[in-house]
Amino acid sequence: MKIVVCIKQVPATNEAKIDPETKRILREDVKAILNPFDHYAIEEAIRLRNKFGGEVIALSMGPDKAVRVLREAISMGADHAVLLNDRAFGGSDTWATSYALAKAIKKIGQVDLVLCGKQAIDGDTAQVGPGIAAHLNWMQATYVMEINILSPHQMRVKRMNEMGYDICLLETPAVLSVVKGINTPRVPTLKGRIASDRYEVPVWTPADLDANIDNLGLNGSPTRVVKTQPPAPRENITKIIEGAPQICAQSLINELRLRNLL
Ligand code: FAD
Repeated sequence: MKIVVCIKQVPATNEAKIDPETKRILREDVKAILNPFDHYAIEEAIRLRNKFGGEVIALSMGPDKAVRVLREAISMGADHAVLLNDRAFGGSDTWATSYALAKAIKKIGQVDLVLCGKQAIDGDTAQVGPGIAAHLNWMQATYVMEINILSPHQMRVKRMNEMGYDICLLETPAVLSVVKGINTPRVPTLKGRIASDRYEVPVWTPADLDANIDNLGLNGSPTRVVKTQPPAPRENITKIIEGAPQICAQSLINELRLRNLL
C-alpha cells in the first residue's frame, strides 16, 4: 500500500493570538509542535504498511520549520517526507490548503490511501481531509476509529458518530481522517531519531505541483474572516443534588432541561 499521511505543524498552545488586522493566527514566536491528532494518523499508516507492505510518505504544507514535524514522522517510521513550502502557499485557507495537498498527492502518484488527523488544534476546522478527497474526487470517511483492509481495492471502516458508530465500505483510493482512540502512537526509537536527523526533506513549490497559482495562498482562498472573538466564558454553576435515587434522577433531568442541555 502506498499511504500518504498529511501532518501539520501547530502552535504549542490553545491560546492562539489573532492578528487584529488580517484576522490570521499569529504563529511566529510560538513554540511549534506536530498536531497531536496527526500522531495517530502516522501510527496507523505505519501499522498498515507493516502489515500489508508498501510505503508511508509524510506530507506537510508549512514554513521552513515544518521540516521538524516531517522528521518526527520519519523518526516514528515513515519512509519518506515532502514539504510544500513557498511564499505562494502563504495565507491559504482550508480550500487552498487541501488543493495544494491534493496536487502533491497526485504528483506522488499511485497512492492507495491518504490519512489525516481528525482536526488541527489551531485552525480546528476538520475540513482539510474532506477537502483533499473533494479535490481528488476520492471516497472519504471522517472520525475513523478502525480500519480493516478487505482486499487491495476495498476497506471497511468504523467511524464515530454522535450516537455510536457507522460501518462504511470504501473503495481505494480513499481519504480517511482518524480519531485519537484508533491506536497508541509509538515513541520514536534512537535509531529512528538518528535516521530522521540525516533525512533531507525534499521541498516542493507550486511549479513542482503543476498547480494553478490562482488557487493558492491568500488570493486563492475564498474564505474571508470578517470578525473573530473569543468564546464567552462558561458559567460554572455546580449544584449538588441530594435525596433518594429516583428524586435525584428527576432533579437532574429538570436541571438539564433548565439549562437547555436536554
Ligand atoms: P484541519 O482541517 O482541522 O486539519 C485536519 C487534518 O488535515 C490535520 O490533522 C492534518 O492531518 C491535515 N492538515 C491540515 N493542514 C495541513 C497542512 N498545512 N499540511 C498537511 N496536512 C494538513 N494557516 C497558516 O498556517 N498560514 C497562513 O498564512 C494562513 N492564512 C490563512 C488565511 C485565511 C484567510 C484563512 C481563513 C486561514 C488561514 N490559515 C493559515 C489557516 C488555514 O486555513 C488552516 O490552518 C489550514 O488550512 C488547515 O485548516 P485547519 O487548521 O482547520 O486544519
